Amino acid sequence: MSSLRVSMPIPSPTADVTAHGRCTTFVPPRSRRSPQRCRRLAVVGIGVGVAAAAVGAAVALAGFPQPPIAPLPFGLAAPAFAPSGDDGLIEDGSPVSLWDDELPAIARLNPALLDAMRAAEADAAADGIRFGVTSGWRSVEYQQWLLDTRIATDGEDVARAFVATPDRSRHVSGDAIDIGPVDAQYWLISYGSAYGVCQTYGNEPWHFELATEPGSDCPPMRTDANG
Ligand SMILES: [Zn+2]
Repeated sequence: MSSLRVSMPIPSPTADVTAHGRCTTFVPPRSRRSPQRCRRLAVVGIGVGVAAAAVGAAVALAGFPQPPIAPLPFGLAAPAFAPSGDDGLIEDGSPVSLWDDELPAIARLNPALLDAMRAAEADAAADGIRFGVTSGWRSVEYQQWLLDTRIATDGEDVARAFVATPDRSRHVSGDAIDIGPVDAQYWLISYGSAYGVCQTYGNEPWHFELATEPGSDCPPMRTDANG
């Protein structure tokens, strides 16, 4: 591996080139060759058709002192939680299908609820109604984030009327689904009980759960998520 040695002087700022093309640390009093010139000549000298020499140059260059990695700014806070698709997030204004079961929001629903909703959707389609899922299963972290965000924007009372705590949320357990648009909500409120699907909160016409035996009446609705 003598080719490695050829390139070793490259880092030296005082290197020059000998008659054999090698860099040395000797600098004549009036050298016409700058260290940069030396470096170019040295690389050319070792690179002529010899792969091993090229490898040697790379090894030598790798030995250059590297600039230190800049430290993180002092006091940089950890990023705040932001829900993702893995938490069951469905972006606002982009409802998904009951068949998008590659999404955790759909795949982690109670299978009985999902089956009932799909059966209802098939019949609603005959009436020209399409179901869009605006929310399904949610992670504990996502549910807590929803609650905290709503408290921050609308205050405690309003937030608790619309957003359950993670331990009480039927979305977290996979037993609730939010549906749009309005004609789909109206269809489900009118005919959902035939599939066991019911609106369960009086203030949320988009929120449905499996709450009765198919063909039976739905139970009385609770006033809100806090009721
Ligand atoms: Zn809901």
